[in-house]
Amino acid sequence: MLKVRSVLTMIVTRRPLISLLVCVALVLAIPVSAAEMTPCLLVSGVSFVPVSLLPQGLQAKVVERTPTINIEGLKVVPVRHLAVSNGAQLKWNSETRTINFRWQGRDIELHALPNLAFWRDSSIIKLTGFRAQTTTAKCVRVVDGDTIKLGNDEKVRYIGVDTPETKHPYKPVQFFGHEASQFNRNLVAGERVTLEYDAGRRDRYNRLLAYVYVGDMFVNAELVAQGYAQTATYAPNLRYQELLLYLQKQAREAGKGLWSRSYPADDTTADAGGKYLGSKNSDVYHYPACKWAMKISTDNAIWFDSAVQARAAGYRPCRVCKPPQ
Ligand SMILES: [Zn+2]
Repeated sequence: MLKVRSVLTMIVTRRPLISLLVCVALVLAIPVSAAEMTPCLLVSGVSFVPVSLLPQGLQAKVVERTPTINIEGLKVVPVRHLAVSNGAQLKWNSETRTINFRWQGRDIELHALPNLAFWRDSSIIKLTGFRAQTTTAKCVRVVDGDTIKLGNDEKVRYIGVDTPETKHPYKPVQFFGHEASQFNRNLVAGERVTLEYDAGRRDRYNRLLAYVYVGDMFVNAELVAQGYAQTATYAPNLRYQELLLYLQKQAREAGKGLWSRSYPADDTTADAGGKYLGSKNSDVYHYPACKWAMKISTDNAIWFDSAVQARAAGYRPCRVCKPPQ
């Protein structure tokens, strides 16, 4: 240590010009590397990067190999998928909230911005021309998994998601309905929430329709990503439809929450033994947690052990919950 210090002292005293140049170079290097930081969107632990901000070579690969998601005209790709399909290495730094993406000897630094900041970040606005309209309010009561009440007595229905109803003949649905309410309560009860609006402000029950945030957490997305809600599409409020569909696919593949089959042992659905549910009055089969499956009465329910069995019986997969063909 002493040796290093004496060497440094020697350099500074004998070569002041070199020392000065080194200092200038260091100062210049900092803003340069900061400018190369590429913003990415982090939603429930899944990060997305705008395709247009990727290096040219990688942009071409995206077209071939990675599913892109369109959000307000901005094409984004899931970073992990991009890395896996292109043999790139990812390193997440939780302190700096950056992802080091190493591809063909090149380092790409992705800066994970909180959701709202991402959309308001000037470079993103330039890309999309998009700025959401928002208000803030206090959540005074959680009605269920996707509905809350504000201090001014307004009811807010979350856009783009549906949580299981709390009263239903099938126990697993009841189970996850209760869980969804509780999960939502943990996220928003008593919190100051930011409401982001889409094209349609109210539904026919005069409830406000909104994307809800607590700090930088996107509640609608979190519900879907953790398997407490499934996506629900109601035009014209479609801003994050593709993002929510992607998160739903991830949750389903991971068997999270309402997509899991580990129902309680005393559960009637498990007794029925089926994996997919159809109705005697239609030719469509569903995941049991699908909002349409929930509308099928016990008397009309037909259970299938496999998609093959369902199709052999003349049923086709639901276009909403998309069970296997
Ligand atoms: Zn369905």
